[in-house]
Formats: sequence, C-alpha cells, structure tokens
Amino acid sequence: MLSEIDARNIERTIRKLVSFGTRNTLSAQDNPTRGIGAARDWLFAEFQRIAAQAGGRMSVEKQSYLQEAMPPPQGRVPEPTIITNVVATLRGTQPASADRLYVVSGHYDSMCTSPTDAVCDAPGANDDASGTAAVLEMARVMSRQKFDATVIFMAVAGEEQSLLGSTHFAELAKQKGWNIAAMFTNDIVGNTLGGNGVRDRRTVRVFSEGVPSNETEEEARTRRSVGGENDSASRQLARFIKEVGAAYMPGFKVMMVYRRDRYLRGGDHIPFLERGFPAVRFTGPNEEYRHQHQNVRVEGGIQYGDLPEFVDFGYVAQVARINAAALSSLALAPAAPKGVHILTRRLTNDTDLQWTANAEPDLAGYEIVWRETTSPVWTGARRVGNVTTYTMAGMSKDNYFFGVRAVDRDGNRSPVTYPKPLR
Ligand SMILES: [Zn+2]
Repeated sequence: MLSEIDARNIERTIRKLVSFGTRNTLSAQDNPTRGIGAARDWLFAEFQRIAAQAGGRMSVEKQSYLQEAMPPPQGRVPEPTIITNVVATLRGTQPASADRLYVVSGHYDSMCTSPTDAVCDAPGANDDASGTAAVLEMARVMSRQKFDATVIFMAVAGEEQSLLGSTHFAELAKQKGWNIAAMFTNDIVGNTLGGNGVRDRRTVRVFSEGVPSNETEEEARTRRSVGGENDSASRQLARFIKEVGAAYMPGFKVMMVYRRDRYLRGGDHIPFLERGFPAVRFTGPNEEYRHQHQNVRVEGGIQYGDLPEFVDFGYVAQVARINAAALSSLALAPAAPKGVHILTRRLTNDTDLQWTANAEPDLAGYEIVWRETTSPVWTGARRVGNVTTYTMAGMSKDNYFFGVRAVDRDGNRSPVTYPKPLR
C-alpha cells in the first residue's frame, strides 16, 4: 500500500482544490467553478469514484447541517451557513470489529487574511489541501484492501470558522455512541521549508495531549495519586504511530510533541478529544507563516499566500504513507484491551495486572509493556498468552509504568491501554 501512494495524485488533488479560487466556508455553494461548493462536489465525486472500485464496502455521503450565525467579532459566521463534510466509510470485514471506527481527516475549507472574507483568493494549498489530498489518496489505496475494523476518510469544512465540521461529526458520534477508537487530523502537511529557513523532508510532527481534555475530577484525583499525565489514550496512539513508523518507514521520523496542538493553536482533533475520543494531529516540521492565512500578494519582494509552489508533494505522500501504515495497523489489529487494572489489594513489590477479555475470534493473546517513568516510549514487552491476569514478578508499580496490548494470530498489535488502580 505504501508504494502505491503516489505523489502525482496528491499534486493533482492539491492543484484542483486550489483551482476553485477560494474554499472559504462562507463562499459560494452553488457556483460550479469557484467557491467551497465546487470543491465539495468535486471531492464527493472523487470519493464516489474510489468507492465504485471497493466491492460495495465503501459508502460516501455529504454530511450537512445548518450552522446558526455566530457574528463577529467573537464568531466567524455572520449568516446562517450550511456546513458539509464529505465522509467516505470503508466498512470492516470482521463482525467483532466492524463497529470499531478509525477516522482520518483533512479540512478542505481555506481562508486568506480575514476568516470572513469569502471573496478573496484563498488557495489553501498547504492549509489544508495537503491534508485533504493525503486523505483522498489513502482512501484510494486502502479501499482495495480488507480490514477488520472500519476506516472513515473525511474532508471537513468550517475548520477556519472554529472547527465547525469536525465538531459536528464528533458530537454526532458522541450522541450516537459510535466507538471511535482513534482519530487523526492532517493539517498543514505540505511545507518542508520553514519560515526559520530549515528544510526538513524527513520529519512529521504528531501532537498528542498528555492529560485528557475531558478528564473528570475523579480521574484527576487518581492521576495525581498514581501518575499518568503522560499516558492518555491519545499519547498511547502517538507511541503506536511512532512504533509503526519506525517499522515501515525507518528513514522518516515521527516527532512526538507532548502537546495537544501547537502553542495556543487548534485543529480538528480537539472536538474529538473533548468528547473522549483518542486523537492526534499530524503537521509538518516547521511553520511558514508567510504562507498561512495570508492574502496572495508580493510585499517587499516577498511572496505571501498559501500557493502550490510552496508545497512539497513528495513529502505529503510520505505523510500519507505514515498515516496509512498506522491506520492499517490499527484497523487490522484487535481493540486495545478494556478494563485494565493494577490490583492493589496486597502490598507487594510485584505488579498484579487484570483486564477484560477481547472479543475478536483471531485473538492470540496479550502483551504486558513497561518503561521507566522517565522514558517517553515503552521499552519492554512480554507475551503472556491468552489470559486476563498476570503478575510481573519483581517489578514494582512504584518504579515502572505498565500497559497491556492485545495481539492477533497474524501478530497485529493494538495500542496500549494504561491501567487504573483497583483496590
Ligand atoms: Zn488548517
């Protein structure tokens, strides 16, 4: 699959999206050549073309709702506006896993200097035609394969209006009780030259929060008592992506950043985090502010604006490959174990772990992983068989962090679940 991901397709998508002039969420929805409506219809047709080759396993929908006005200066929606996400769902083929969902998104809306200027040219080649093109190319390649769990490829709108499309999807998922086991957003994944003059084609940043955005007061008390500020489900997801990246793309670096997003900034993963779904943001290694949220212009001999000439299409393909490797690994693997606990009934220098049995028919068993408390990644792993309790003899829960992951008969591993204490 990784070799099938083609930078030429990504370039074609980015140039096509730029050709609509602007994709501002407030721009025309009924003009066939200019504005967000033209981009929406083109993306819908592209996903449908992919779905037609997927043997009936992929469905595509325009998911629309009417956003009420949120007037400036606080809001960025002067008039009630229809927001449309384009959503392509590749259904999982294992009945025990098909309800487990993995979502990968980019936002197809764009902006120039003013978020409410619906008329200016807003090419948005990097922000975020790059992420949208990566998602479309992943859908093309992955739709030819079968996965146990379901993968949702999504292009959302209203990101620049304050994460509106992604918030709508995440809220719907929460209301309907969908089991979103992970969400990736790809946003600004195209520039390899930063405003700092550094050219880096071999690194992608993966932002993950340490403390869950939806943590309850009770969970916070437990965390203060046993640690775990570096062990949210989203952080485990980032570690999973780093491990998969090292296995499949050893020359490409997943740089984990221990933050929800860039300093004081946001993205489409946040509405998912706020509703309790594990999520991370992929973004390029260095920011280039002259080409983000800028009217296209030359000033003092400097070209401003988010133009395709500043996008490295080969790099976007690399980011798409890392995404596809991680998503495929997740969707082939069992679910992360549930009900994982460290038992604290007896005072002991051992660590007693217990968890709930997984439901997948091809489950082989479990692995206990551990690390010293100052290590960013898991450093040890032990196969313990198809059991639901295990004692790590001679390893104290005071001195190590532990986790449990599930493994299937093909060797596919789930992300790690970090345990809670159980008296
Ligand atoms: Zn963006």
